[in-house]
Amino acid sequence: MNTDNKQNYELLYQQITQAKKIVITAHQNPDGDAIGSSLGLYWFFKNLNFDVSIIIPNEIPSYLYWLEGLEDIMIFENGQLDAIRKIGEANLIFSLDYNALSRVKTMSNYLKHSKAFKVLIDHHPDPEIENFDMIFSETSSSSTAELLFTIINYINEKFDLQSINKSVAEAIYTGILTDTGGFKHGIEHKEVFETTAKLIGLGVNAQVINKRIFDAFTENRLRLLGFCLSERLIVIPEHATAIIYLTKEDLLKYNYKVGDTEGVVNYGLSMKGINLAILLMEKKNEIKISLRSKVNFSVNQFARLYFNGGGHDRAAGGTSKKGMEETINEIKMALPNYTKVLNSVKELGL
Ligand code: 5GP
Ligand code: MN
Repeated sequence: MNTDNKQNYELLYQQITQAKKIVITAHQNPDGDAIGSSLGLYWFFKNLNFDVSIIIPNEIPSYLYWLEGLEDIMIFENGQLDAIRKIGEANLIFSLDYNALSRVKTMSNYLKHSKAFKVLIDHHPDPEIENFDMIFSETSSSSTAELLFTIINYINEKFDLQSINKSVAEAIYTGILTDTGGFKHGIEHKEVFETTAKLIGLGVNAQVINKRIFDAFTENRLRLLGFCLSERLIVIPEHATAIIYLTKEDLLKYNYKVGDTEGVVNYGLSMKGINLAILLMEKKNEIKISLRSKVNFSVNQFARLYFNGGGHDRAAGGTSKKGMEETINEIKMALPNYTKVLNSVKELGL
């Protein structure tokens, strides 16, 4: 069931009025959109006095710690029993900013078997429709936060709920800000600016939040960025590609914390003539891969084909079970299949 018209917003509201216990979930390795959307919806329900919880699979990056209500979020990895109980008791569950249950890792089984009414709100392509009772999927939306705000703002006005306040607006703004990379991409439609204007009207101080998100590096994080650029950057001009890689030892040396490599992949893309940027990070048992492209090249498809991943056309992720050198070689072997499309960036003067 695809539901992205106003009538379906009203059907969602009917479900909400029947809900006793609500659980909000978002994807593992949460980003600003996952957490911003979750807290935006959380405050919408809190303001209506609902029993509502947020459960996120794993740790939240520290650049989001200032968000109101952050301390109320349950981390599945850190307290499975409580989280499993909450999921079991819920009669309405929201899945935000992910399109497949595998994106919540160990939580997915509990969600799959829950008897709750399940609602997906997301902007990734190809949602797993069979796992949800209601789907709001809008790939043209800059962020899940923007789509979510359209829905709750409509419901709020239609039923005169007065449930959207500054806390909702700050969380939603954070989701839009981070998923557009500071209003740099995903801004093809005027609605993203209209929504942002509404959020500022609700009391969001955009400049303060921009600084909290983008100008809050620790010294270690800044030095790690410098190290990535000077010591760990591989440029492959003939395939318009830049790769940055970090080993376990590198991460240890710079006292890596979750969120410290946020945005690093974009530096590869900031070079003229580069169309594909890849960041490889060695984790405990696998390599986490982030991919970005400028034009024409679908990193979503590339990540699905080679690295058991997915995402959007211009931003995607995946994993490799091979070693660092082998993974880099695998990428280098694959690139000649895409020479023409990767190099189209140069024809566009980008
Ligand atoms: P990031 O590179 O920032 O981790 O993720 C970029 C985009 O790719 C996000 O939209 C994220 O949801 C998606 N993504 C990241 N890792 C994975 C993955 O392992 N599988 C899938 N399907 N999507 C991913
Ligand atoms: Mn998103």
